[in-house]
Amino acid sequence: MAKSLIVITGASSGIGAAMAKRFSAAGHSLLLVARRIEKIEALGLPNAMCRQVDVTDSEAFKAAIKEAEAKFGAVDCLINNAGLMMLGQIDTQDPSEWQRMYDVNVMALLNGMQAVLADMKARNHGTIMNISSIAGKKSFPNHAAYVGTKFAVSAITENVREEVADTGVRVMAICPGAVETELLGHTSDQEIIDGYQAWKDAMGGVLHADDIARTAEFMYAQPQGVNIRDVVITATRQQ
Ligand code: NDP
Repeated sequence: MAKSLIVITGASSGIGAAMAKRFSAAGHSLLLVARRIEKIEALGLPNAMCRQVDVTDSEAFKAAIKEAEAKFGAVDCLINNAGLMMLGQIDTQDPSEWQRMYDVNVMALLNGMQAVLADMKARNHGTIMNISSIAGKKSFPNHAAYVGTKFAVSAITENVREEVADTGVRVMAICPGAVETELLGHTSDQEIIDGYQAWKDAMGGVLHADDIARTAEFMYAQPQGVNIRDVVITATRQQ
């Protein structure tokens, strides 16, 4: 397939970093954004523009996209991967944690799509890949606010997919189960962290970030006329 510019948000760790490595190895140009720029630069990937962007700053995000397009050509794929998971119970959790999750997981994803969709529609070509979660399909203990953000991601993805389908632009979602990354570290309640860790241990381990990256690479590599809309991928032993 032709090599193209792929934008990956939250490329400084976990799933985003794994996707950056895979898409770089496949020869694509990349715009990698996150707040910890030293971690994206440390990946040392060729043809990768690394920019320190807080994705909740839509102007900074758009500026980075413009800069990358000036160097590499039009964005062919935006992967909205940046995310926060701050687990808690509704009666005790600090509401500022809900706000942060909605800002990053939902608002920034909408802003990202807005930044690239008009051009993709005009070109009748392009892919938006949103990283949702199995928590965008079902509920889990202490996950209410996070589940809300991920149900939103899945719903938005499906709605936008329908809206732009006749332009030829693909909109797709990956819904991972538990993956070993830094994600659990965002939660501030140690008891919940310990419980989640015990749940992961009890199932004998979870997915690796590269399991998701491999899936993303496969989905993107299909011909433009083929859209793998929605993939749920979990460790086999995850219930
Ligand atoms: P990590 O915590 O390892 O990675 C999260 C990434 O998001 C980091 O690169 C972080 O970069 C970035 N990020 C967070 N806030 C911002 C921000 N304001 N601006 C820019 N970047 C930001 O977790 P994962 O790799 O697991 O998470 C990736 C996605 O996968 C998330 O959307 C998550 O919800 C989803 N997911 C993860 C699962 C799991 O079990 N791990 C399961 C299902 C879905 P930095 O801090 O440098 O800004």
